[in-house]
Amino acid sequence: MNAVNDLYGRPLRNLRLSVTDRCNLRCEYCMPEDDYVWLPREDVLHFEETSALVDVFLSLGVDKIRLTGGEPLLRRDLPSFVRMIAPKRGLNDLALTTNGVLLADQIDALKAAGLGRITVSLDTLHRDRFKALTRFDQLDAVHAGIAAAHRAFGRLKIDTVVIRGVNDDELVPLLEYGKAVNGEVRFIEYMDVGGASRWSPDRVVSCREMLDTLSRHYGAVEPIPDPLSSAPADRYALKDGTTLGIIASTTTPFCRACDRSRLTADGMWYLCLYATRGIDLRAPVRRRASVDELKALIVNGWRARDDRGAEERVALGARRAFVPVQDLLRKDPHLEMHTRGG
Ligand code: SAM
Repeated sequence: MNAVNDLYGRPLRNLRLSVTDRCNLRCEYCMPEDDYVWLPREDVLHFEETSALVDVFLSLGVDKIRLTGGEPLLRRDLPSFVRMIAPKRGLNDLALTTNGVLLADQIDALKAAGLGRITVSLDTLHRDRFKALTRFDQLDAVHAGIAAAHRAFGRLKIDTVVIRGVNDDELVPLLEYGKAVNGEVRFIEYMDVGGASRWSPDRVVSCREMLDTLSRHYGAVEPIPDPLSSAPADRYALKDGTTLGIIASTTTPFCRACDRSRLTADGMWYLCLYATRGIDLRAPVRRRASVDELKALIVNGWRARDDRGAEERVALGARRAFVPVQDLLRKDPHLEMHTRGG
């Protein structure tokens, strides 16, 4: 099958599947409020419905799927969904991004169901900071989840959002922690996406600054070139062979190579993390539209894609939070990062 390309020649390849908009943490850079307008329960797709959409995406060239949320491990019986989609033809990479709080209990079932890879988000190694940042005293549970992932999968990735004045002094300790659990750390520049209503430019630690900090401690930090990669992280190696990633989506966006799209738990399909409008796939799947009809919706949507959300944000110059007004977020939960997955 020929690749389905968008207006900039970017292929449809990478699907981030949000299985719930609920989360058991309240990270200040993602879900800072106590309460949210949640997706109506009856709108959330059943596993069979999502699986039917996955079949269509796979038939059109998607070969990588990442399960995300909200917190995906809050979705009841996630392993049975993994079991449903893991064996599908054409799926080369099935990964999960989690905050790790519930991971220790679920890891064996997820592995047995066919999950391929795990990324755990961890922003600090200090218990008091973790509590201040997430509003829950769950650092020990995350450590247990990471240890379980290490045991079950042998390796993992650790995603860290770096925020000035919050955890920018922990780059080295987090890398050392990563070494101990065979976790490749990826430092993420703080992004001004949906839920980050407290974002401001002075809180962003740029990739350049992170590299400076690391090289002051470790000596030369060498880039690992990978011209064919569409992954958001640029990878680097330390002298001792340790590798790490930096996701510089705020200062140096990678829209040019972006092959990612996002399906929310209620079946809205977003072609860019910054897109304010999505394509409704729930209605057609619920009225049992034919496979050809679903294919046409997806192909036409992708072919018309001209989003370059992160680059447009940079071009704006003076920036503030993307959706600064809580009232607006309240009106449409789809604008939230936790609804459409990170
Ligand atoms: N709950 C899961 C987790 O914590 O990994 C999955 C969903 S979470 C929205 C996915 C990723 O988005 C996490 O690694 C999180 O740190 C990242 N994220 C959320 N808000 C962000 C922001 N404002 N800037 C950069 N990354 C952000």
